[in-house]
Amino acid sequence: MADQRAARPCPICGKPAEDPKHRPFCSGRCRQVDLNRWLGEVYRVPGPPAQSNGEPPPDDDLDE
Ligand SMILES: [Zn+2]
Repeated sequence: MADQRAARPCPICGKPAEDPKHRPFCSGRCRQVDLNRWLGEVYRVPGPPAQSNGEPPPDDDLDE
């Protein structure tokens, strides 16, 4: 009854992750894909949104 850990699908491609070296992924490639995806998401998260809600842009003064 120790076979449970052998049937875990790779979260990236869905293949069974049989290689214990790369678990929970099926291969180093999928692991890299997951890492890149995670990093990409982190980089994509913007900081606090600019406070341009209702306030006129500073360029307005240059117009006059
Ligand atoms: Zn995979």
